[in-house]
Amino acid sequence: MTSIYIHIPFCERICFYCDFPKKVGKIEEISTYLHALKKEIEMYELPKIIDTLYLGGGTPSILNDEQFEILHSTIKKFTFSTDYEFTIECNPEHISIEKLQWFKRLGINRVSLGVQTFNDKLLKLLNRKHNRDMVLNAVKLLKQEGFNNISIDLIFALPLQTMEMLKTDLATLLVLDVPHISYYSLILEEKTIFDHWVREGKLSLVDNELEAAMYEEVITTMRKHYHHYEISNFAYPGYESKHNKVYWKNQHYYGFGMGASGYIDNVRYYNEDRVIRYLEKVSKKEHPIAHKDELTKADIIKEALLLGLRLIDGVNISEINERYQVDVMTYFQEEFTILKKHGFIEISDNIRLTHKGLFYGNEVFSYFI
Ligand code: SF4
Repeated sequence: MTSIYIHIPFCERICFYCDFPKKVGKIEEISTYLHALKKEIEMYELPKIIDTLYLGGGTPSILNDEQFEILHSTIKKFTFSTDYEFTIECNPEHISIEKLQWFKRLGINRVSLGVQTFNDKLLKLLNRKHNRDMVLNAVKLLKQEGFNNISIDLIFALPLQTMEMLKTDLATLLVLDVPHISYYSLILEEKTIFDHWVREGKLSLVDNELEAAMYEEVITTMRKHYHHYEISNFAYPGYESKHNKVYWKNQHYYGFGMGASGYIDNVRYYNEDRVIRYLEKVSKKEHPIAHKDELTKADIIKEALLLGLRLIDGVNISEINERYQVDVMTYFQEEFTILKKHGFIEISDNIRLTHKGLFYGNEVFSYFI
């Protein structure tokens, strides 16, 4: 299995909650970046066949014709497996016939829409450009043009969001009938505008009790229609994200572009997260890597648990034992005993989160960091 993540860090405007590696990009800068990206990829000897490719951001859908052409000259060198998955992250306002023609030319077969909420008032608060109607039109156009593998990203526990608003979002979502949904709770990230406002007392977050009730509502509603396969992800059968499963199953993948990370031969590498540093290194024909972590066997086993427990099926004990030549039950005996005592995990052939554990994911994961 060969998986590649490519980061396109440019956005038209900055959302007030976002801490992804991104910047507002000018046309020339984006083109220069895409040429550098091509050079970075050429520095690697990649396996012949690519199984999953993920164009993330930032906002990859802001590229214009000339920029898609540069990207195409990079991607056309890849050969995809017969059941490959090639995802692009898009903002709903960018979906047009012209863009979709580019997607087809590139071989994209999965579109992930950053919707966040259907509530226009909350969208404004987040500093998003789109509104509810744009999302409905985008999904309609995608389906008309044959893009059936659509994923929608949503956020709950947004400031000012009530349970009624969440229920309205869920009802709108179900009508759209798209095969994959990622539904995350808002995390207040440091150095974001929201963080600044909260510190100044200008913005209040949803309290823990309401946040938990909202997650319960999301799970209960979504499970009636979708397979709940990861803490925050839901899919129609067969539409689970192949690319994201690579991460959760602790498999290797390449990461290219500013701020991207990769995991190859048990080494995690992290690219420069400023465009200028990234371009500088690539122009000197250097890998634009800021730092690397060579993982020990102990690190790898911990990460396998940390990531694998995000999946609703959890981790299979025999698989872990065989893959890492370890007796995982003995290895984490102390941790498992405490987590079981709290009712956060259950153990059979697999180790998995209980229903209660889904609400305490971060506490569980802290045992494997
Ligand atoms: S949320 Fe997405 S579109 Fe908004 S600033 Fe972050 S990367 Fe850009």
